[in-house]
Amino acid sequence: MNTVKSESLFNEAKKYIPGGVNSPVRAFKAVGGNPLFIQKGEGSKIYDVDGNEFIEYIGSWGPHLFGHNPPFIKEALLNAIENGTSFGAPTRLEVKTAKLISEMVPSVEMVRMVNSGTEATMSAVRAARGYTGREKFIKFEGCYHGHADYFLIKAGSGALTLGIPTSPGVTKGNAADTLMASYNNLESVKQIIKKNKNEIAAIIVEPIAGNMGVVQATEEFLNGLRAICTEERIVLIFDEVMTGFRVAKGGAQQLYNIRPDLTTFGKIIGGGLPVGAFGGRKEIMEMIAPSGPIYQAGTLSGNPLAMAAGYAALNHIKSNPDIYNQLEEKSAYLEKGIKSALHSINRDFALNRAGSMMTLFFVEEQVNNYDAAIKSNTVLYGKFFSEMLNRGIYLAPAQFEAAFVSTAHTKEDLDKTINAVEESLRIIVK
Ligand SMILES: *Cc1c(COP(=O)(O)O)cnc(C)c1O
Repeated sequence: MNTVKSESLFNEAKKYIPGGVNSPVRAFKAVGGNPLFIQKGEGSKIYDVDGNEFIEYIGSWGPHLFGHNPPFIKEALLNAIENGTSFGAPTRLEVKTAKLISEMVPSVEMVRMVNSGTEATMSAVRAARGYTGREKFIKFEGCYHGHADYFLIKAGSGALTLGIPTSPGVTKGNAADTLMASYNNLESVKQIIKKNKNEIAAIIVEPIAGNMGVVQATEEFLNGLRAICTEERIVLIFDEVMTGFRVAKGGAQQLYNIRPDLTTFGKIIGGGLPVGAFGGRKEIMEMIAPSGPIYQAGTLSGNPLAMAAGYAALNHIKSNPDIYNQLEEKSAYLEKGIKSALHSINRDFALNRAGSMMTLFFVEEQVNNYDAAIKSNTVLYGKFFSEMLNRGIYLAPAQFEAAFVSTAHTKEDLDKTINAVEESLRIIVK
C-alpha cells in the first residue's frame, strides 16, 4: 500500500500538533505504523490522501449511523449555511431538535445542547451534584465519559480503592470524589454506597459499554442500579453518547426499559458535527441556568450548522424506524461470518455484539467487565488490524473500541470483510 503522502503529512503534523493528531487514538500507537490522512468519505468507504480505498467500521467513532456524507445531511448543511454560521441567539431549529429528542427518548423531558460528549457528561455530573447537594459520584472501570479531570481516574487495585490520578494534571482532590466500581457487579456498588452514605450525587454508566470494547450490561445490573439510585436518592446518569440513537431509536434505555434520571448524548446527535447534549427529569434540568442556579453555558452551543446536521440525522431515524432492523440484519450477518472464521481456525475468541456495535477480543473467555477485557492479547489485535488494513478494511486502531456497522454497508462490503477476517486470522494465529 502506498502511503507516501500520509507519511509526509504526519511528519509535518508532528511538528505543530502534539503527536501529530488532535485525539490520541488516531495516532495508531496501539497498533503500530503511521496514521492515514483521510481525504474523503462516501457511504461505507473512506479514501486516504494517497488514493487508497477502505471499507471502514469507525464511522468517525460513532456518529455515522448512515455511513459517510449521506445526502440528507449534506443538503441540510448546505441550506443552513446560506443563513450564516452562528448567532449566539436562539434559533427555531434548537426548539425543533430539543422537541424531537424528547419525543424519541421519553426520559428526556428537557435537554440542553452542548458541543461534545465530554461537555455533556461533565455538565450532567454538575447538575447531579447541584441537585443533590452531594459531591462524590460512582463510575465503572473501563467506562469512558470524556476527558474531564474527574473521569480520568485509573481503575485502581479494586472497586473500593479511592482514585489515584491516571493522567498528570488531575488533582488528588478531584480524583478523591470519583469512586470506582466494577461493571456488571452490583455488590461493588453497594459496598461503596455503604461506606459513603448520603455522600453520592450520581452513578454514571454506559448502559452498553463501548469504550473497553463492547461489553453488554446484564439486565439485573442496570435494574439494580436503578433501584439503588431511587432508594438512595442518587441521580442515575446513562451515558448514551455512543449508544444513543445507535442501538435503538430511544437508546439503550429503550432496550432495557429503564428510565434514567439524566442521559448524555453526543456522536449521532450531531450528524457528524461537534455536538453533545444532556437531559432528563424536568425537576433536575430546571435547576440549570438561567432557570436555576447551576451554571452551564457555551458560546457555540446549539450552533445552527450543528443543529441542522443533527436534526436531519434524528429526523431521518424517526421517519425510517426500519433502519434498526437493517442494522441488526447486517451486523448479525457479519457476526456470523466472523464466528465461522474463528471456528475454521479453532479459536473461541470472545466476539461481543450489541446491535451495530461489535468487538472481537483476542481472549478465549467471556468478556463482561474491565478485568476480562484487558486480558485480550493486544499484540495480536495490532497484527490483526494491520492485516485487515492491507486488505482494504479499516478498523479502529485500538483493541478496546467498538466496530460500527452503518446502514451504508452493503452485503458485498460485509462479504469482503468476512473474507479479510478469515485470511487475517489464519496468518496471525499459528
Ligand atoms: C465518545 C464518548 C464520550 C466523549 O465524547 P466526546 O465528544 O469525544 O467528548 C463520552 N462518553 C461516551 C460513552 C463516549 O462513547
